[in-house]
Amino acid sequence: MPTARPLAIVATLFMTSGWIHQASAEDGDQFLDGIGETALISRYRFAGDLKDGSRNGLTAQEKDQGLQFVDDETFGKVLQLPGGEDGAYVQIPVDAIGDAVSFSVTGWVKVDSETAGQVFFDFGKDAEHHLTLVPMGEGRENGCSLAIEAGESLPLQGPKSFRVRPQTWVHLGAVLDAAKSSLSLYVDGARVGRQEGVKASVESLFDADAPRATQIFLGRSLDDAAPRLAGQLFDVRFYRSALSDSQISVIHHNAISDEKITAVEGDGRMESYREDRPRLLQEGLEGVPDITVTTAVGTLPHLPAWVPGTYAGGVEGPAVRVIWPSPVDNEAVAKAGKYTVTGKVPGTDFAPKAEVVIEMTTTPEDQPKATLQPFPLGQVVLSPAPDGSPTPFMSHRDKFLRGLAATDPDRFLYVFRDAFGQPQPAGIEALGVWDSQTTRLRGHATGHYLTALAQACASTSYDAELHAAFAAKMDHMIEVLYELSQMSGKPATAGGAAVSDPTQVPPGPGKEGFDSDLSEEGIRTDYWNWGTGFISGYPPDQFIMLEHGANYGTGNDQVWAPYYTLHKILAGLVDVYEVGGNAKALEIAKGMGHWVDQRLRALPQETRIKMWNSYIAGEYGGMNEIMARLGRITGEPRFFETAKLFDNTRFFFGDAEHHHGLAKNVDTIRGRHANQHIPQVIGALETYRGTHERPYLDVAENFWDLCEHGYMYSIGGVAGARNPNNAECFTAEPNQLFHEGLSEGGQNETCATYNLLKLGRELFQFDRDAKYMDYYERAMYNHILASVDEDNPGNTYHVPLNPGARKSFSNAHMDGFTCCNGTALESGTKLQDSIYFHGSETPGLYVNLFVPSKLDWKDQGITLTQETGFPFAKTSTLTLGGSGEFPIFIRVPEWTTDAFTVRINGEKSSVPIHPGSYLKLERSWQDGDVIALEIPMGFHLRPLMDQPNIASLFYGPVLLAAEEAEARSTWRSVTLDLDDLGKNISGDPASLHFQIGETQLKPFFEFYNGFHSVYLDIVPAP
Ligand SMILES: [Zn+2]
Repeated sequence: MPTARPLAIVATLFMTSGWIHQASAEDGDQFLDGIGETALISRYRFAGDLKDGSRNGLTAQEKDQGLQFVDDETFGKVLQLPGGEDGAYVQIPVDAIGDAVSFSVTGWVKVDSETAGQVFFDFGKDAEHHLTLVPMGEGRENGCSLAIEAGESLPLQGPKSFRVRPQTWVHLGAVLDAAKSSLSLYVDGARVGRQEGVKASVESLFDADAPRATQIFLGRSLDDAAPRLAGQLFDVRFYRSALSDSQISVIHHNAISDEKITAVEGDGRMESYREDRPRLLQEGLEGVPDITVTTAVGTLPHLPAWVPGTYAGGVEGPAVRVIWPSPVDNEAVAKAGKYTVTGKVPGTDFAPKAEVVIEMTTTPEDQPKATLQPFPLGQVVLSPAPDGSPTPFMSHRDKFLRGLAATDPDRFLYVFRDAFGQPQPAGIEALGVWDSQTTRLRGHATGHYLTALAQACASTSYDAELHAAFAAKMDHMIEVLYELSQMSGKPATAGGAAVSDPTQVPPGPGKEGFDSDLSEEGIRTDYWNWGTGFISGYPPDQFIMLEHGANYGTGNDQVWAPYYTLHKILAGLVDVYEVGGNAKALEIAKGMGHWVDQRLRALPQETRIKMWNSYIAGEYGGMNEIMARLGRITGEPRFFETAKLFDNTRFFFGDAEHHHGLAKNVDTIRGRHANQHIPQVIGALETYRGTHERPYLDVAENFWDLCEHGYMYSIGGVAGARNPNNAECFTAEPNQLFHEGLSEGGQNETCATYNLLKLGRELFQFDRDAKYMDYYERAMYNHILASVDEDNPGNTYHVPLNPGARKSFSNAHMDGFTCCNGTALESGTKLQDSIYFHGSETPGLYVNLFVPSKLDWKDQGITLTQETGFPFAKTSTLTLGGSGEFPIFIRVPEWTTDAFTVRINGEKSSVPIHPGSYLKLERSWQDGDVIALEIPMGFHLRPLMDQPNIASLFYGPVLLAAEEAEARSTWRSVTLDLDDLGKNISGDPASLHFQIGETQLKPFFEFYNGFHSVYLDIVPAP
């Protein structure tokens, strides 16, 4: 712990605004200095090594001679650079800045000598295109300076301050804010200079033809003639966002004070609420009537997010969004009676009331069953558009199938062989990013890979060669994993010692306790002591450490998320079994299922409650889902009990006595990590499917409604909280996306949307409510299809929706996976999975999505060919092959009108049309029957619930984003006639490219490298 140094600057900062003194509910490195870890790309403490202390594994490299780690009285151990003409310096991997639009660098430096021109860092492609921080120039004019230049297009410019004192630790910070075109310099936590109007982009510092040739140096200039740094470095960090003044102050303060600040506000919202603007409300709205809602004792009422408005002259108008209070418990409904709550309509003075009638219910609750199911993947094949061109669905699929076909399965087995101390096949290297040697999540990509191979295998019923290639990879994976799993808990040599009981796993040989050291020197490989059935990408220690209370972090006494990794692996194995009938895959999954069951069953309930409530460390993906699936597949009821051992009790049921929580419609989503929790809800639904215990279904249905209305962005994604300050978390309160969401560091984690899609399609199978498939279509077009690069399977982690943001793609070569890169393998190999469903007990056919495809309904001897240019065309034609008597249900999307028409063999059907529901066609179908659909499409807006002027523009299901030339700090403003949105919009529905004045719009799924504005500031036309 460094000694506190009384610096005047700290005292004054305590008086500035923007500070929040509170202990964060969750601790660990992910809220390092109150800044969400997703913004942190890499961190070098230099306390004895060059390792990256973030989760990204971007180890730095020593260059030239003389680098040492020395003792320091302020920071303990630090890095010493010798200086001189060719003294050692440090090279940082270029991914530490990569494709960031804005970025920040901070770190401690102590300069030994007064030699002018020594650099703290330099970043760029050469000495004429770089960004550099020089702590010590000549005199005031050339004192401490931060400067950028990019050849002739951008002459040298940047802020300056007094030169730093030699022999003294100084905290330096540099922030390039592309949206504000500014470059700011910080010394000891205070901003000492800012240059405005810096029209520099990170790209200008890269050589477009050789991006990897760009260098990031610490202690050395890109100019060979400049002197090298003689001095010390400590805790250098790279952030992929423009840190605020308060954030940099806190990094500095926390390093030298024992009073840590753990929550900090980022920059203020770009514009405050626009009271001066008329809201986006239909002309003539006179009021929102009071309503009455009934609920059962103990369950919070389901208050409607949309209430029909009253319009002048009694004309019909659109429903109005109402925000109701969201209590944190269910005390208000503890006993039968009545009470009243008052809602608000953002941007108006309307305050509708809801009278809540609380009834004592005595009738047993019903237990709905899933009455729909999807078709096996091989029975639905995507087709090209009518003009023969590939659809967005097809090109997305083909990028992934091509990428997957080129992978070597042995790379995905690397960490498993390593954990079991087995040799690697010649020339095989570990994957990178989150599957590298020492990354505590290693093996997660392997799980996704198994699922992807299984799905690719099933989906390529149209291509025997591809199908066989995927099958061969899949079988090879299972052979090796089976062999390893069979070694666990059994003697390595005949008669040798072994520990078969999973609850008796001892610490590794020569170790005193359990640790998460996965380095080549430190990893334990004594598989004979691990209990029978154990399989993972690392030894069992992380599971055991979690039981003992270890938190999330990169130290050897910390864990990442052991059950998260395991869920991916088990889901992959079960997918291989279900798709390929590979019995060994099921054996591996069962063996590990029993291992997990025995360990968790031995724990007190309080320990499990604490584990599953702990941030990231307790993230278990959908372990409950996979255990319930195993129960269903194997018929072993014990697995349903194992599934319940994963109940996230506080989230689902409020407390150990199940007093409230989601099951009682209490919003326990607040502030939680989105993708940690969504799969748990999928697991609750799967538990219900197996046990028919109603509270699990209530958890899933209530979560959906609370999430959809209170936390969802227009593209169908969630998270991006600025409070708590973590781009992967839900906001601290519902209905706060404008005020507390849209975090600079990102939002809309792609995994989270993938999991919401999965949850929605499962819920649809229970209650057939079209809202789930309306969501499915919206999130597929506007997030999943929008998440992949133009010519390769590189894909997004977060999808930022701030004005003038840009997507960032990674993993084009499938060799280094974040969570979202793994999930993308799954999305990309099952794009056809929800186009059609069929009844599981009665033979009805559901047409959910308008995507050209061919269905081969083998059970009924029916084929259905869907031909459509949708969404670039407004028609779809369904042609039947075979005959039979069964109903066909067709989705009438929420965004269309009652002019939606159906013609059967040319004759117009009189079936009633209600947008947002399914229409039903029932007859004795004959071979060759043709159902022709006309699907009216038009413009509509989806505003942010707490700032109704900020909205996304849609054409049908397709979100139209504005093309931007560069990053922005203000919302893009467009003028629209609210009574006729299309009036001010020109363009071509056949290409979905439109204009509003100067603003060019195109589908969000067609954005790759350009900047976008997904939300627009809508000015109502006079
Ligand atoms: Zn993810």
